[in-house]
Amino acid sequence: MTTTLITGANKGLGYETARRLTAAGHTVYLGARNTERGVAAAAELGARFVQLDVTDDASVAAAVAVVEAGGGLDILVNNAGIEVRSPGGDIIGAAELTADVMREVFETNVFGLVRVTHAFLPLLERSAAPVVVNLSSSLASLAQAGKGYPGAAYPTSKTAVNMLTVQFANAFPQMRINAVEPGYTATDLNRHQGVQTVEEGAEIIVRMALLGPDGPTGGYFDATGPLPW
Ligand code: NAP
Repeated sequence: MTTTLITGANKGLGYETARRLTAAGHTVYLGARNTERGVAAAAELGARFVQLDVTDDASVAAAVAVVEAGGGLDILVNNAGIEVRSPGGDIIGAAELTADVMREVFETNVFGLVRVTHAFLPLLERSAAPVVVNLSSSLASLAQAGKGYPGAAYPTSKTAVNMLTVQFANAFPQMRINAVEPGYTATDLNRHQGVQTVEEGAEIIVRMALLGPDGPTGGYFDATGPLPW
C-alpha cells in the first residue's frame, strides 16, 4: 500500500491530486491548514485529513506524528502555495515589492516547502520507493521571466522551488524528486482566470507522483515532458 501526503489539498490542484491518488488506491493524507475545510474535503474523497499549516513548525511536527503512526510515507506532494496581492487586489510587481510581501510569499511557497520536506525526510527515507513532487510554475523560468506576468515575488519563489528541487534531488539520489508546472489552471489562486481545468492541471502532478524507482529525478516537467530551466 502506497501512502501519499499532499499539502494544501482541501481545494484546487491539491484536491484533484488527492482525488486521483485516492482513486488509484493510495492511502492519501489530505493536508489542510484549516480543519473544517480539510475534514470536509477528506470525507468527500475517502482520504485521511491531517492538519498541516506549512508555515507552522508545530503543525508540521504534529502532522509527521500522525502520518508516522499511520505507517509511514512514500510520496510527498508539496502543493500548498500562495500569491499575495495588494489591498486593491492587484498582483504586486517589482516596483511595489516590499520585503514583507516577499517574506509572506516565501514563508509558504519556499520556507514551507523546506519545512515540510525536512520534517518528512526521515519517513521518506524508510520508504522502498520515495517520491517528492514540488509544485513549480512556468513563471519559475529565468529564460521566460518578464513575459506576461506582472508579479515579482511569486515567480521568484517558484525559481527557488526549482533550485531546491535540484538540491534535494542531489542530496537524496535514492528518491525521485521533481518539480512540475501544471499549466495555467482555473483555481482560487488566479481567481479562476486559468484556462485549464484542475483535471488537466493535476495530470503531470499525478504522473510524477506515480514514478517508479527508475524514473527521472532532479527535473522540471509539464504535461508534455521535461522543461528547460
Ligand atoms: P489554490 O486553489 O489557491 O490552492 C492552494 C492550496 O494551498 C489551498 O488548499 C490553500 O489552503 C493551501 N495553502 C495556502 N497556504 C497554506 C499554508 N500555509 N499551509 C497549508 N496549506 C496552505 O491554488 P492552486 O492553483 O490549486 O495551487 C496549488 C499549487 O499549484 C500552488 O503551489 C501553485 O503555486 C501551483 N501552481 C498553480 C497554477 C495555476 O494556474 N493554478 C500554475 C502553476 C503552479 P486554504 O484553502 O486554507 O487557503
